[in-house]
Amino acid sequence: MNERIRVRFAPSPSGHLHVGGARTALYNWLFARHHGGVFLLRIEDTDVDRSTEESVEAIVESLKWLGLDWDEAPYRQAERLSIYRGYAEQLLKAGRAYRCVCTPEELEERRRAALAAGRSPHYDGRCRDRRVEPGRPWSLRLRVRDSGVTVVDDLIHGEVRFDNAELDDFILMRSDGMPTYNFAVVVDDGLLQITHVIRGDDHLSNTPKQTQVYHALDLAVPRFAHVPMILGPDRTRLSKRHGATSVLAYRDLGYLPQAMVNYLVRLGWSHGDQEIFSREELIRYFDIGQVGHAPAIFDQAKLDWLNAHYLREADPKWLADLLLPFYEQAGIPPGEIEAKAGAWSGSGKGGTFGEAVIRTFRERAKTLRELAQNSRFLFRVGIDYDPQAVEKHLRPQALTHLREVHGRLQGTSPFDAATLERLYRDFASERKLKLGDVAQPTRVAVTGGSVSPPLFLVMELAGREICLERLAAVLERGAA
Ligand code: GLU
Repeated sequence: MNERIRVRFAPSPSGHLHVGGARTALYNWLFARHHGGVFLLRIEDTDVDRSTEESVEAIVESLKWLGLDWDEAPYRQAERLSIYRGYAEQLLKAGRAYRCVCTPEELEERRRAALAAGRSPHYDGRCRDRRVEPGRPWSLRLRVRDSGVTVVDDLIHGEVRFDNAELDDFILMRSDGMPTYNFAVVVDDGLLQITHVIRGDDHLSNTPKQTQVYHALDLAVPRFAHVPMILGPDRTRLSKRHGATSVLAYRDLGYLPQAMVNYLVRLGWSHGDQEIFSREELIRYFDIGQVGHAPAIFDQAKLDWLNAHYLREADPKWLADLLLPFYEQAGIPPGEIEAKAGAWSGSGKGGTFGEAVIRTFRERAKTLRELAQNSRFLFRVGIDYDPQAVEKHLRPQALTHLREVHGRLQGTSPFDAATLERLYRDFASERKLKLGDVAQPTRVAVTGGSVSPPLFLVMELAGREICLERLAAVLERGAA
């Protein structure tokens, strides 16, 4: 391709960025980056009743979180109204568009009558040749070419043919002076020299209308790629009923942006049977022509699998910073976290407390939220004891061992995994026990359950005081 590729993501800011929109943005971004082209962000905020600043911020935040950067200052349609009005004027003068003074009530009445008579409910062209003068409210309608066919050569759907007789003289400018979507989008895509329009296939049916606007304005028609919808497991359009749908909700549930990007790209696109892609690989391999035309089904289990993968792979330092809000969510006061982190760095152990937590717990968690939940017992919080684990491991004999171990733990130093392991092994061999006979009861006492990452690492992270307190509490309670 010789021309410089220019694509855009054009969300309407009437809510959060949903996974479907995020995937559209991602495909545009990858297409631009693959071809060394330009990726633009255009906020389609001409619908003043539905657009909010809060949504604009959420969209921007979502794109930043996913790492989808845009190349020119974001465009906002609400700041470009004079441009649309100028083009509207031009079409009016050239006779390609005309003023219509039919009121909504009249239109509705005629629409009903047409339907009742078995005719098409489309606009009947009443004002087409009426030469309406301004003075009362008017909207601007395109004089469409209503014969022949419009062929959309779509990069995903192939050639799609639309009968022009199906189109009516649709509105370009409303009576309040605002452009309609089909008009503003064409003016902008034309002026911004967009070469490829990649968007959801719910817009495929708008494309023949937009094609007519391009022709009327004498603008080059871009190439189109209409991306299929994302469906829930029940094959209905993905919605809140299926769980979280907004990108920021996934972030707040503890998903990582790498996992989200990797997941979204594979919803409809594939490269052989590769499942895990680095960002560089995605840029290298992405090909819009390889996007399938069947709808994709959202698969939570696969997203979880990818997230667990990136949790294991990502830089522990970076993950540790991301973990903090999840601890707060899990009810751990920030002061408590700071105190632990401070004590850790003061002990000369190397690395940070957060990194050590990540390394110790990440094998078993699917999300950061789960990781925070699984490791909250490291802090001074009330913990829930698993009754089965208590029943099985905190028998009278076990408590006798724990009492002795409690005594030894008080004096041991340093309180680190290697020293603790030695202490437990020595104790077990002196008493002719298996390590598990004393390690499992300790695990239940300290963590509340019978499964956890390696016990001595966990004890080191919890620290001497918490370990001793929990053992003492169990001893005081007595045997199961
Ligand atoms: N604002 C439209 C939407 O969010 C943009 C469609 C397009 O990309 O043309 O659906």
